[in-house]
Amino acid sequence: MIHDLHSHTYYSACGRDKPEVIIQAAIDGGIEVFGISDHNYGIGDRKREYYELLTSLKEVYKDRIKLLCGIEVCTLRRDLYLKDDEDISCFDYCLVENLDSEESVINGDIAGFAKRAGTKVGIAHTNLFRYIKKIGKDPLEYFKMLADNGIFWEMNVNYDSIHGFRIHQYYLDFLKNEEMQDIVRKSGVEIGVGFDGHRVEDYLPERVVHMSNFLKEKGIQIVDI
Ligand SMILES: [Zn+2]
Ligand SMILES: [Zn+2]
Repeated sequence: MIHDLHSHTYYSACGRDKPEVIIQAAIDGGIEVFGISDHNYGIGDRKREYYELLTSLKEVYKDRIKLLCGIEVCTLRRDLYLKDDEDISCFDYCLVENLDSEESVINGDIAGFAKRAGTKVGIAHTNLFRYIKKIGKDPLEYFKMLADNGIFWEMNVNYDSIHGFRIHQYYLDFLKNEEMQDIVRKSGVEIGVGFDGHRVEDYLPERVVHMSNFLKEKGIQIVDI
């Protein structure tokens, strides 16, 4: 199965498209499981509306694609983070960003965050090997800890106008580095693939397909939600 677990609609301030438009682009691009993951602070108080719309679209598209209703949670600043009593357990999964930031409000406690989220958690667009080195942990042990907590790591294959057509270097490093691939494979941690699309005209599903095929070839576990 080809999964793209990271995409944005008009529910994110940085997104613009209707969900139906990007779902159709995913279908046309050969994506089999497609996750919409708008920003928590973009969805804001429209969480119910967002959830209900995506839930109804799951049904509409079910013969063509498996749609997932996700959310991307910012941990950079308290005001952009979840409210204390905010429940996100209804979502199929949650992408967490800024884990490697000095200011991250979860302060590196990814297992604690996963418990609090109450749903499947993935670490979005983060150079984890660099982060693990910075916090002085052993990479294999760290990835095992993620695996034990059911937390996946996203390979973010974005290349679009919103991000100035920059490619994430950690993902290129991972493609080239067999030692990193070995550690990830041995740890049993699951890998997710996401394009992180914000504009349908920039969408390049072939990048997702390529990364998914690479992981399969290397015998690395792909997350299945
Ligand atoms: Zn993000
Ligand atoms: Zn995103």
